[in-house]
Amino acid sequence: MENKQMIEVQNLNKSFGDLHVLKDISLSIKNKEVVCLIGASGSGKSTLLRCLNFLELKDSGSIVIDSKEIDIKKDDLNKVRQRVGMVFQHFHLFPHMTVLENVIEAPIQVSGLSKEEAEERAHDLLKKVGLEDKVNVYPEKLSGGQKQRVAIARALAMKPDVMLFDEPTSALDPELVGEVLRTMKQLAYEGMTMVVVTHEMGFAQEVADRVIYLHDGKIVEEGDPEQVFNNPKHERTKEFLDAVL
Ligand code: ADP
Ligand code: MG
Repeated sequence: MENKQMIEVQNLNKSFGDLHVLKDISLSIKNKEVVCLIGASGSGKSTLLRCLNFLELKDSGSIVIDSKEIDIKKDDLNKVRQRVGMVFQHFHLFPHMTVLENVIEAPIQVSGLSKEEAEERAHDLLKKVGLEDKVNVYPEKLSGGQKQRVAIARALAMKPDVMLFDEPTSALDPELVGEVLRTMKQLAYEGMTMVVVTHEMGFAQEVADRVIYLHDGKIVEEGDPEQVFNNPKHERTKEFLDAVL
C-alpha cells in the first residue's frame, strides 16, 4: 500500500484555443510522496494542477486517481475534487463567512456531515494550523499567512487523499512565508500526498521527495532534490536554477 500510485497521468494534453499548454505530460505520484513542481511563469504549472483536480478539463490523455481512471463525462467531478484538495496563491476564502464557517461549509454541503461533526473536525484542524483563537473572525481580519492556513484547514476538512498547492506563499509578505511552509512541512511529515508548485527552493530541497521541472508544457527533468538542484542533467534546468537560486 505504501508504494501504490496515488495519481497516474499519461500523455496529458491541454490547449487554450491555439495555445498548446500541456504537451504529452506523463507523471506518477505515489501515496505519501511530496513532489515539488518548478518552472518559469507560463510553463503550465497551474494548468497541470488544475487538470489534476478537474478545474480544467484535459483535451486528451488519461488521469488515474487511486487506481481509477476518471471519466470526465461519466464521473461526478465534485466527488473527485473532494479527494484532491487544492490551495491557491490567493487563498479564495469566502469573505462573508467566519473562519469556522469557511471550514465547515463543504463538509456540510458536499459530504453531508452534521453541523456538529463538521465543527468538531474544523476545531481540530484549526488547532492543527495554529488558529484555534481565530474561529469566529472574518478573513479580512487575518494576515495573509493566517488566511492561507485557514485555506489549508478548509481543504483538509474534506479529508482529501492528495493536496495540491499552487504557489501557496507567493502572495505573502516575506515574514509570513515561514508559518505557511511550516504547516505544509508538518502535513508532509504526517504522510499527506502533496504536489506543490513553488518558488521556495529551500522548501523543495528539504521536504520534496522528488522535484519536477516543467518547461514550455513539458517535463524536462525530474529527480530527487539533491540531484536536480546540485547536478541537473539538462541545460534548461541549469539556466532556470541559475536565474532563481
Ligand atoms: P504557470 O502556472 O506555469 O505560470 P499557467 O498554467 O498559468 O502557467 O499558464 C500556461 C499558459 O497557459 C500561459 O501562457 C497562460 O497565459 C495560458 N493560460 C492559462 N490559463 C488560461 C486560460 N484559462 N485561457 C487561456 N490561456 C490560459
Ligand atoms: Mg501558476
